[in-house]
Amino acid sequence: MSARPTISVVAPVYNEAGNLKRFCQEVRSTLDGIDESWELILVNDGSTDASHELMLQLAETDARLRVISFARNFGHQIAVTAGIDYACGRAVILIDADLQDPPAVIPRLIAKWKEGYDVVYAIRAERRGESLWKRFSAKVFYRLLHRITDIDIPVDTGDFRLMDERVAAVLRQMREHYRFVRGLTSWVGYKQTGVEYVREERVWGETKYPLRKMIAFALDAITSFSFFPLQIMIFISLSLAVASLLVGIVISGLRLALGEEFFGGQSTTIILLLLLSAFQLFFLFIIGQYVARIYDESRDRPLYIVASTFGLTESRAPVQRARALPVMAQPNAETIEQTPPEAEIDGRV
Ligand code: UDP
Ligand code: MG
Repeated sequence: MSARPTISVVAPVYNEAGNLKRFCQEVRSTLDGIDESWELILVNDGSTDASHELMLQLAETDARLRVISFARNFGHQIAVTAGIDYACGRAVILIDADLQDPPAVIPRLIAKWKEGYDVVYAIRAERRGESLWKRFSAKVFYRLLHRITDIDIPVDTGDFRLMDERVAAVLRQMREHYRFVRGLTSWVGYKQTGVEYVREERVWGETKYPLRKMIAFALDAITSFSFFPLQIMIFISLSLAVASLLVGIVISGLRLALGEEFFGGQSTTIILLLLLSAFQLFFLFIIGQYVARIYDESRDRPLYIVASTFGLTESRAPVQRARALPVMAQPNAETIEQTPPEAEIDGRV
């Protein structure tokens, strides 16, 4: 039997001590029920509770469990990325460790994959135990994102999904730092489909996505896949130009008709000035969001630092830097010979 499993399940873990045991049990019983070889990769994203010790204990009793532990907290999307980097299954499944994504849905994802789909995402038909605010903001956000991006990011899907190894291979080459993994898998293309499921309540602990992180996540998603916020500026600036022209004509007319002192107040000027400054600063903020990301990408730091691993073979050290990757095939000897010398290309002698 080959050592390579058919299914790699990847779960990011950040302070999930109360969920881990049950989560691993459920994944194990589900996957043992479908007669496929599998591995479960737990990515410890700098947990400060007992999660790490628990993971190691669980991995000691089952050789199909692997543990990757980060040097600090790098964030959910980076943890998922590391899991994909290390996974060696023919399909990779991303799932949260808090049991909000029920492992019982996994066989349905695998069934679709076997029908020939490369990405099978799980659609949240219902969300249980989440605040009205979270459900509302998520609904609005996913619909907005769908409208302003060119790629087809399905609404109401999270990271809970299966991807074929060829999709995982492409993701391993995409080393951008501001990652919206569900968008990246859509971007890859191939054959994609979804299955509906009910997103359960968190079994233990609290969400690791407070409002601040949710906004940052939404900004990452938008800046990663859309230039709409930059493009919208031209419409606003044109509208303001037209409005100022019209207001100018109307005021001039009124002053001609009613006398010089009409509309002489300063308050209107001040209000307009403040409003326009607010607009300008808002758009500077938007430009700043893109610029800061360019700066961060240009530094090209590694996406994460692994402090320790357990249950992994050495040969699975992941690719950490895009620039170290051979992006295109090297030209072979024949094509080099056929290439004209530089002077000829330039048209100079
Ligand atoms: N998570 C992580 N790093 C973080 C935040 C979250 O690895 O910085 C993990 C967390 O342990 C869970 C998954 O990502 O397995 C989803 O997080 P959470 O349940 O808090 O998000 P929500 O379901 O509330 O959107
Ligand atoms: Mg959750």
